[in-house]
Amino acid sequence: MRNVLITGASRGIGAETARLFALNGDNVIINYCRSQTDAEKLCNELQTSGLSAMTIKADVSAPAQVSEMFAQIEKTCGGADVLVNNAGIAQTKLFTDITDNDWARMIKTNLSSVFYCCRAALPYMIRKQNGRIINVASMWGQVGGSCEVHYSAAKAGVIGLTKALAKEEGLSGITVNCVSPGVIRTDMTSNLSDDDFRALAEETPTGTIGTPADVARAIVYLASEGSGFITGQVLSVSGGFVV
Ligand code: NAP
Repeated sequence: MRNVLITGASRGIGAETARLFALNGDNVIINYCRSQTDAEKLCNELQTSGLSAMTIKADVSAPAQVSEMFAQIEKTCGGADVLVNNAGIAQTKLFTDITDNDWARMIKTNLSSVFYCCRAALPYMIRKQNGRIINVASMWGQVGGSCEVHYSAAKAGVIGLTKALAKEEGLSGITVNCVSPGVIRTDMTSNLSDDDFRALAEETPTGTIGTPADVARAIVYLASEGSGFITGQVLSVSGGFVV
């Protein structure tokens, strides 16, 4: 049974990803920061269905907490065979209104967290000469989002980190890929109105808005044994919004 760590798995895309890995027979490690009740509810839901799950609290933007989380994982189950760097925040602001704090918080939550978690996960994967890392980027990291410059910059950084790390770890049997979601209905997009969603769907070739399950399926695929010849890639899950 593989141990799959999903950061930010208390809600949204991360929670759905944890559900799908668990259904596939993996032991899921549900990381959360603030939403303890949601994380525990998900964990109970999986365990009562006979699936394997545990929760672990850590603010992944804090390197000491990430080290502690991996130390706990090592003690409980040896290490993470699959790492999904999903935790993230969003903020919509005019570029000229972004403060130093906004910038620092965005970069450390959405980009530095990926560095901290990969750094902590890799020694175990390298020892095993096997591993899968999937980072959750965003279409704005590929094409840039107006009024989301700091978010776009962080996600573009995730894409660069993914490509470079994939080159470095290929000979260790470790693949590193990104999924790049388009507009997905979660708490993160709850500020959008029905009219906004309708307009966005109209701009999307499939004519639809994405679901957390759409992204989860792509992540699970990139973590599968059959995807071993795919590394350093950015898999867009955007209904063709970005082609
Ligand atoms: P969401 O529903 O707002 O959930 C965000 C998750 O990230 C929560 O579980 C939250 O945990 C966790 N998180 C935030 N800061 C954290 C921290 N410092 N440490 C640990 N966990 C933290 O968002 P979502 O839509 O599922 O987004 C998931 C990922 O997809 C993000 O990286 C986001 O940028 C990306 N994405 C989303 C969309 C979209 O349209 N929704 C599009 C493109 C990319 P707690 O509540 O426990 O703090």
